[in-house]
Amino acid sequence: MKLSERIIGLNGAPGESDGWGVYYRARAMIEAGETLTMLCIGEHDRKTAPFILDAMDASARGGNTGYALALGQDGLRRAVAERVEAATGVDTTAANVMITTGGQAALFATMCAALDPGDTAVIVDPYYATYPSTVRGAGGVLRTVAARPSKGFQPDASDLSAATEGARALLINTPHNPTGAVYSRATMEGIAAVCRERDLWLISDEVYSGQVHEGAHLSPRALPGMAERTLVVGSMSKSYVMTGFRIGWVIGPEDVIAAMMSLANATTYGVPGFIQDAAEIALRQGAAEEAEVAALYNRRRDRAVAALEGSPVAVSPPDGAMYVMLDIRGTGMSGEAFAMALLERERIAVMPGESFGRAAAGHVRVALTVGDEAMAAALRRLAQFASRLAKAA
Ligand code: PLP
Repeated sequence: MKLSERIIGLNGAPGESDGWGVYYRARAMIEAGETLTMLCIGEHDRKTAPFILDAMDASARGGNTGYALALGQDGLRRAVAERVEAATGVDTTAANVMITTGGQAALFATMCAALDPGDTAVIVDPYYATYPSTVRGAGGVLRTVAARPSKGFQPDASDLSAATEGARALLINTPHNPTGAVYSRATMEGIAAVCRERDLWLISDEVYSGQVHEGAHLSPRALPGMAERTLVVGSMSKSYVMTGFRIGWVIGPEDVIAAMMSLANATTYGVPGFIQDAAEIALRQGAAEEAEVAALYNRRRDRAVAALEGSPVAVSPPDGAMYVMLDIRGTGMSGEAFAMALLERERIAVMPGESFGRAAAGHVRVALTVGDEAMAAALRRLAQFASRLAKAA
């Protein structure tokens, strides 16, 4: 039987790398019994807080195990709306919120809402690895615009304006994975101006909004003329250590959210009620937990910067999220070759910058997701490895 072009083409042209080669190799090494330091993916080493697990358990045992409402339970939708309204000052009610199976399903839902088949969606390079397939999965055509390392990976308004001609949607992410950039007010105002000028949907991925180390997170939905064209993607995964719960949301205009109910019916048919109850408790009673998670990555970021000081891959501290992006161009290697060599010779797994697009070529991304001591030791070894290569280059 013939598979659809859509499923075959999700990762791009046939044979194109999906960018996960180093990660797959690292997994294979672990399965073969080898010990290595895994700094590849945004998966916490911390465990979900007991009060969240207790809430899930009580909900399930209390009988909330049947089909849940497709757009989400009222209580959780209200909790999300209250949080968003408090953070942004934009009037937000439960009717502006759709609960989804994680931020990933929220990204797909927003693309489905914004794009007709063949419409162009612009993403900022470097980008989170699933963005291209999410655009293609919704029938869209992908276009990228580079955010340059020399500009702190903040996209430039004139580049955005040129790249979005004829496009239907722009997808941005701040705080940013993989670079840790937090878009400044000037960057956001530039983005908003381009979206108004080009009449674009703006999809704003804010799954790291709880992890800002420097500056402040500004949601573009709060900027003039933007609430009606902005679809915000949020998640419990990063801020509350709930990656495996698969729970997130879309915030958007009421009519858009109401229309997306048919997508929920056609795909997930709602998120399990006991997961939603756990998320609601986390949002309503979890301020201390969220602060602790943010403090953990803030501390590791500082330790990572200190461990790399004086080396050819020294970095200025990233402003947000749970990663550090290292410029390894001084070694004369590509990010991919460096990451593979680091894995084979030093048993340290990091992601090549090329996995996130072209603009981060010659970089590697380090996820700050092992204990402080192990992380700092691995980074000191990485720095020595880079120094030896840079001298030989
Ligand atoms: N967006 C970004 C930028 C991410 O880094 C991730 C996960 O790593 C997601 C969205 C998806 O998160 P989740 O589906 O776990 O909510």
